[in-house]
Amino acid sequence: MTITYEALQALGLSIDMTRGKPATEQLDLSRALIDDVAQVGYLSRDGIDCRNYGHVLGLPEARELGAQLLGVAADQVVAAGNSSLELMHDVLAFAMLHGLPEGEPWRRADEVALLCPAPGYDRHFAICEALGIRMIAVPMLDDGPDMARVEALVASDSSIKGMWCMPLYSNPTGTIYSRETVGRLARMPAAAPDFRLLWDDAYRFHHLTEERYASPDIVDACRQAGHPDRPLVFASTSKVTVAGGGVAFLASSRRNIDWWQRHVSVRTIGPDKLNQLRHVRYLRDRSTLERLMDRHRAILQPKFEALDATLSKLLGDLPDVSWTRPFGGYFVSLFTPDGYAKRTVEFAAQAGVVLTPAGAAFPYRVDPRDRHLRIAPSCPALADIERAAQVIALSLREALAEGGARAA
Ligand code: PLP
Repeated sequence: MTITYEALQALGLSIDMTRGKPATEQLDLSRALIDDVAQVGYLSRDGIDCRNYGHVLGLPEARELGAQLLGVAADQVVAAGNSSLELMHDVLAFAMLHGLPEGEPWRRADEVALLCPAPGYDRHFAICEALGIRMIAVPMLDDGPDMARVEALVASDSSIKGMWCMPLYSNPTGTIYSRETVGRLARMPAAAPDFRLLWDDAYRFHHLTEERYASPDIVDACRQAGHPDRPLVFASTSKVTVAGGGVAFLASSRRNIDWWQRHVSVRTIGPDKLNQLRHVRYLRDRSTLERLMDRHRAILQPKFEALDATLSKLLGDLPDVSWTRPFGGYFVSLFTPDGYAKRTVEFAAQAGVVLTPAGAAFPYRVDPRDRHLRIAPSCPALADIERAAQVIALSLREALAEGGARAA
């Protein structure tokens, strides 16, 4: 029997698909971080007492782990608190207040803008809004941002101080930047001397298939292109260990790291080194981390497959509807015909499935074609994913039927 929207509504569902949070089973994978606290103790490999203040750039062995994970030298890595988003915020706040090593404080400029490939990550856009940074949307294509647009804008407009980039399994489209795109980003001339790539590598190890795609090495590519200070790389263990208590990393040129140290030393006397020590002992090295990520994949992959299978069954006959089948990351993007995203979200909410608000993945929350939905299947139980996917698919059909009736 085919399921109807009304039948789903009658189930009284309550499923939250708004944010890319890890599920409880994923958090349980790293129980050792909690269980083994006493054994880890507080003395680092080098005899540093992690209970005390200091080491503003992070515990040396945590920086070394970050260096191994990000493929750069340890003196080019900062190991910090639990959130990479916080580091992105602080980099932009410091640039606004104090300027980057080679430039004036951004606050003195008439205008400061960042390029924002869209659909993109809503929290990047929220930082821009909070700091008064103008957002310029550029289309996200299959192999990364529309580089012809990016190159033309960056070369001609000195108010464009940087660009958000999520090179691997972009949130929310799952896009993998091609080698060519990365090379062009590294090489392109910029009118602003202090232009930066805000390289958010949040999903560097978060594969959904057996193929482990690799983020191209932007630090080296920029160095070779004569722009060593251009990239600021961000990553964290939020979705490797625990989302509320992981370790975040910032990697860049030595010059940028020195700049960071100058400003962050005003803000803190040092990070939580006990947590860094726990993480180093637990994660050990890249291959141990990759084995852990295989276990995350075993939990996540069936959820993405269930979502895809149900959408295929219920929407496969609609030529103007498409969705992504990502190779990694935490999100699926669903594209409706123009003008139907908001209404679909409303219908889904009325049937008990809460989605990220339509438009959230665009600067200023405006999807010019009102057609993009971000679906986050990681957190709900597998059994709920199929139900949620039915609700989303039939909500879209309700919206289309309503639109068709209005037009008639
Ligand atoms: N960057 C991206 C692209 C994300 O999707 C997320 C979380 O969903 C974050 C950063 C947040 O990272 P953190 O927990 O390290 O602040």
